[in-house]
Formats: sequence, structure tokens, C-alpha cells
Amino acid sequence: MSSSASSQPVVHPVGSARLLWTVLATVAVLTLLAYLVAFDQGAVSRSGMYLHELMHDGRHLLGVPCH
Ligand SMILES: [Zn+2]
Repeated sequence: MSSSASSQPVVHPVGSARLLWTVLATVAVLTLLAYLVAFDQGAVSRSGMYLHELMHDGRHLLGVPCH
């Protein structure tokens, strides 16, 4: 068997701008999610206690002080 050039995977440059923006967007979304699960009390999100109650089990599961 001989290897051909057409069977090689396409390699993207590691330092591409697309990768950078993908990483930044992922970090931003995860930071927002971590805030909503662990710290939001309704004052910043303007949701009353709705998001707090929605995320309550996750908060306790992660051991974040709650009540
Ligand atoms: Zn609680």
C-alpha cells in the first residue's frame, strides 16, 4: 500500500484568528454560565429569583454556598 497526498487530513494553522475567537467565545459563554449557576441572585440578571431557583440544584451540586 502506498500513501497518497489526497488521504492526508487538512491542517489548519494553530494560531489562526478563527481559533482565537472560538476560544474567547467559549470562555465568555462558560464564564456567563458559571456566574448564572453559582452567583446570580436576580439583581444583575433582572430575573427576580427565577434563574436562582432554576439553577438551585446545580449550585448545591457544585458546593457553592447558598443558604
Ligand atoms: Zn440553596
